[in-house]
Amino acid sequence: MSKVILVTGGSRGIGRSAARISGARGWSVGVNYADNAKAAAETVAEVERAGGRAIPIRGNVAAEKDVIAMFDATVRAFGPIDGVVNNAGILGPATTLAEMSIERMRQIFDVNILGAYLVAREAARRMSRSRGGKGGVIVNLSSAAARLGSPNEFVDYAGSKGAMDTFTIGLSKELGPEGIRVNAVRPGLIDTEIHAAAGKPDRAHTMGKLMPLGRAGTADEVGEAIVWLLDDASSYVSGSILDVAGGR
Ligand code: NAP
Repeated sequence: MSKVILVTGGSRGIGRSAARISGARGWSVGVNYADNAKAAAETVAEVERAGGRAIPIRGNVAAEKDVIAMFDATVRAFGPIDGVVNNAGILGPATTLAEMSIERMRQIFDVNILGAYLVAREAARRMSRSRGGKGGVIVNLSSAAARLGSPNEFVDYAGSKGAMDTFTIGLSKELGPEGIRVNAVRPGLIDTEIHAAAGKPDRAHTMGKLMPLGRAGTADEVGEAIVWLLDDASSYVSGSILDVAGGR
């Protein structure tokens, strides 16, 4: 069955993979991004080449009006939304808590936690059966950092992802009766541009060999898990946190 999906942070990395793999199923994708219009246009082209339809949608997940607008734009283009991937996320430079500024912590929590809550709230408002919706799926992006804690590097980020795990459990119980499945994917070390933001562009390469599978994962390996959770193939999976972490 063809689906309409909104992917936040769909312009690069894991979000782009989830969008392209959705396109390969013939689905239609709202590709949200923050600033990088060129990357978003490339994702749209990849979705179309794969056989789907897509539009780029600029917007900050931490801004309420932008979140409402990204849902509106997706519905205008493709019709009611079936699934939302809460993927947009950021990382600060690796450092200890003692060195972290309030501005940095606020930005991490704003985008990674508040942003995910705002996106999920909009999804709940539109997809809940008691509100006239047809049900649907929400996939949250957690991180193995939620289990590992990321000491001396990103305890702020790790805590924001711990929030995703707890949010996923609670929201799956709240929205199950509304016909909405809620799950999380918890990636390990994945080769994307997010590590450059932490000042370690080679992180996936240098740390990859320390992983049980001996390498970092690819964005597509996470995208496949996300799209399986969006798909009806996972119709009895809700409240689950799926590790895609190479055994880490
Ligand atoms: P990435 O390559 O850095 O891409 C981040 C994406 O998020 C971009 O599309 C970016 O848009 C978008 N974005 C950033 N801030 C935003 C905002 N305020 N509003 C809307 N979009 C925003 O990241 P990634 O590695 O694919 O990570 C995707 C998700 O997986 C994140 O939640 C991350 O925490 C999680 N994760 C990643 C790893 C890993 O090792 N890579 C591991 C565990 C979990 P622009 O292109 O416009 O900047």
